[in-house]
Amino acid sequence: MASTKAGQGARAAQRTYDYIVVGAGSAGAVVAARLSEDAGTSVLLVEAGGSHKHLSVQVPAAFSKQFKTERDWNVLTEPEPHLGGRRIYHPRAKMLGGCSGMNAMIYIRGNKADYDGWAKSGATGWSYDEVLPYFKRSENNSRGADRFHGDQGPQHIQDLRSPNPVVQRLIEGAAATGLQRNDDFNGAAQEGTGFYQVTHKRGSRWTTADGYLAPAAKRANLTVLTEAHVHRVTLSEGRATGIEVEVDGEMHAVRCTREVVLSAGAFNTPQLLMLSGIGPAEHLAEHGIEAVVDNPHVGDHLMDHPMYLVNAETSASGTLAEAESPKQLVNYLARRRGVLTSNVGEGGAFFHTRAGLDAPDMQLIFAPGYFWEHGAATHDTPAMGIGCSLVGAKSRGQVRLRSADPKDQVAATFNYFAEQEDMDAMVAAVEKVREILASSPMRELVGEEIHPGSQTRTREELEEEIRRGVEHTYHPSCTARIGSEGEGVVDPELRVYGVTGLRVADASVFPTVTHGNTHAPTVLVGEKAADLIRAAQ
Ligand SMILES: Cc1cc2nc3c(=O)[nH]c(=O)nc-3n(C[C@H](O)[C@H](O)[C@H](O)COP(=O)(O)OP(=O)(O)OC[C@H]3O[C@@H](n4cnc5c(N)ncnc54)[C@H](O)[C@@H]3O)c2cc1C
Repeated sequence: MASTKAGQGARAAQRTYDYIVVGAGSAGAVVAARLSEDAGTSVLLVEAGGSHKHLSVQVPAAFSKQFKTERDWNVLTEPEPHLGGRRIYHPRAKMLGGCSGMNAMIYIRGNKADYDGWAKSGATGWSYDEVLPYFKRSENNSRGADRFHGDQGPQHIQDLRSPNPVVQRLIEGAAATGLQRNDDFNGAAQEGTGFYQVTHKRGSRWTTADGYLAPAAKRANLTVLTEAHVHRVTLSEGRATGIEVEVDGEMHAVRCTREVVLSAGAFNTPQLLMLSGIGPAEHLAEHGIEAVVDNPHVGDHLMDHPMYLVNAETSASGTLAEAESPKQLVNYLARRRGVLTSNVGEGGAFFHTRAGLDAPDMQLIFAPGYFWEHGAATHDTPAMGIGCSLVGAKSRGQVRLRSADPKDQVAATFNYFAEQEDMDAMVAAVEKVREILASSPMRELVGEEIHPGSQTRTREELEEEIRRGVEHTYHPSCTARIGSEGEGVVDPELRVYGVTGLRVADASVFPTVTHGNTHAPTVLVGEKAADLIRAAQ
């Protein structure tokens, strides 16, 4: 008889593991794979979702087709106070590989100043020079190895196989407005304009499940439990002893002898901490949870990058509007080329909207297609989208429990645009995009501006339109940040304050969100976490 999920859960519960890793995403898959390299160590990786083997995961241009499906946690924020009470949708992947299987595949490490800033604020061991070896270790860059890059790691990083001519023209337009060309945003300098490198292998998406878990699958010391929803960490006398996990409607207690590692992402990791009694005592009491560790920073300091998308009609051919044509389907299936290999955000730019900043505060993301409402909205003529992603955003929010039910969504509030300087930067970015669209390389391709629309001219009109239409770049982080005791949730070795045997390794631990997309920095966290854990034994 085939083994049921509940049967697998029961079997896992009968064993004791050295390590339990919760969540198989950008970081968790890395932690579990690295820890299990030591054949003498037993590791259980628990993931709420199932397989990542779906066409909409594999085909780059299809990533938004996964939104609001069974592979999405489908998070909706509380009414955002500075966006007229709009509730903002946050897709979050629920499958092996986590958001590395749902994201837009842009490979950006952030700015050197991010890591040096982390180290300066007390995150000892996280300066740029100290993290660079981990970026290189994780990377298999098709351009080969150099001072900044590796070519032996599990994570394929490649150039787009079919870069879109519209994006090429946008890059030329950006250069015509004074931005320098940059063909490696992860090299000597981040500033400038160019194509992004992507987490692809031969025109298809490459996830941490592909790069890290698949090669580890045959190891007898690694158990991967899927469709298994962790409800809480069990604690005894100040020590993490295991987890309670629901599999196929049945609860199981699984024990570990060394450590539990939470890698459930920036929403669910603080949720699990709070459900386990680690968090703001008063808030926990409201939900009938007794605080084991009273720490107000759990769930706090939530950061992200608000993104406003300028969309304009175009006379160019070859946009994403053609993605679903039979010709492109054949091109993808037979040759792994063409529009379907587009990661949508193919190229872009980093620049300063004002002087005196350590790092560029704005990232532009150039899409050769209309992109609005997370890709759900359509437009009846070909268009292009230029995302203004405020990578220097200052506004912060928080994650709280909606209830003590582990199946309930968290209550997240981002407070986008709580700081006026965030709005100033966004307005400046929209003006910059208009300059790019009016530049000589672009002008002849550009038709009607759809969003914010050419009728939106004054500063007040722009602000209003931005508040109405702004979304984000899908980068929630910092909700279990590294900080000193009394200021953070974990120490620089990612150990949760107040208990032993419990670490966090995912985007929650960033002291501040990096200036750029967050997958690569999260893989870095996974790589470094594994070393820190191994060194502690
Ligand atoms: C639509 C989208 C586009 C993005 N685009 C980019 C991009 O182009 N480039 C980039 O660098 N970054 C991008 N990002 C962001 C990046 O992918 C994330 O920052 C990163 O993947 C976060 O990794 P993580 O390990 O913290 O969490 P995740 O990858 O979300 O992993 C968490 C895992 O834990 C599991 N889990 C959660 N709760 C439980 C539980 N209770 N029990 C068991 N398992 C649980 C989840 O199912 C998930 O698999 C994007 C993200 C999204 C959603």
